[in-house]
Amino acid sequence: MKQFQYLRAATQQSTLDAISKPGTKIIAGGTNLIDLMKRGVTAPDKLVDITHLPLKNITPTKSGLHIGALALNSTVSENGIVVQKFPLLSMALKAGASPQLRNMATVGGNMMQRTRCSYFYDTTMPCNKREPGTGCGAMGGLNRMHAIFGTRDKCIAVHPSDMCVGLAALDATVIIAGKKGERRIPFTEFHRLPGEHPDVDNTLAKDEMIIGVDIPDNNFAKNSYYLKVRDRQSYAFALVSVAAGLDISNGTIRQARLAMGGVAHKPWRLFEAEKFLVGKAVSEDSFKQAAQIAMQGAKAYEYNAFKLKLAPATITEALKHASGLV
Ligand code: SF4
Repeated sequence: MKQFQYLRAATQQSTLDAISKPGTKIIAGGTNLIDLMKRGVTAPDKLVDITHLPLKNITPTKSGLHIGALALNSTVSENGIVVQKFPLLSMALKAGASPQLRNMATVGGNMMQRTRCSYFYDTTMPCNKREPGTGCGAMGGLNRMHAIFGTRDKCIAVHPSDMCVGLAALDATVIIAGKKGERRIPFTEFHRLPGEHPDVDNTLAKDEMIIGVDIPDNNFAKNSYYLKVRDRQSYAFALVSVAAGLDISNGTIRQARLAMGGVAHKPWRLFEAEKFLVGKAVSEDSFKQAAQIAMQGAKAYEYNAFKLKLAPATITEALKHASGLV
């Protein structure tokens, strides 16, 4: 591993000053960044440790809940308000990684984690995300874990997070600090599709940092579910996952929220399927129709065609769990 400088930031301002210099990266839990450095995928000159900044709070607000960027995944998943008001977020967090990793990983770090595409981690292979212009090893390679939505021939990687799928479904807002002050963006606009620049995972500028997320109150708590399908029961990334939230009154769906993981370069919100479900009776048939709508535009590669069947089945099953049908 390349030698690097280590700084411990005392303030948000000193962090922003430090990251405005090239070659500097923020580190918090380090559960992904250290792996990337060991493998030579990234080689920063300087790491700025922000774990001593006051960004660990989980605080009720007038319209929902604020979660600081340094709140630990394990803490958020066990927080009483999260469990009571946003259970699908708790479920999504507990579906991710291992207890040891969740005890180190932060909310901000979870959002910033990079794809687990094996070609991205193998520095002997071409990868447009790691080294723009070299090609995509996965395109003609082993692409069983890869995307079926929003792909371009430059990159077919998926975003690996479970938490982010939950936050996308819950209409969360990302709070970002930069030298010009704070800005807020919808969670669904934080991560990006690969397009012409697969090396860029999200819309955070190099001199900005995530300071927290806000989740608005909703009526989905009673009828929400996170379903993750994976190769083994724990410590595995999603083949497909679905976050589902339903607002149901007298057997009719008033509002729906749906997002998928394991299928795109970003958490994949299913807006058209949500619209379809509004006003429908709670039934397996409605859920199957919504799942078919959600699959419009899906495209498989050599080894991931199974996701074209697995994804709608997972959507249907998640909606059945959320609605209480099973
Ligand atoms: Fe790299 Fe993306 Fe291709 Fe994987 S899918 S090898 S991350 S360019």
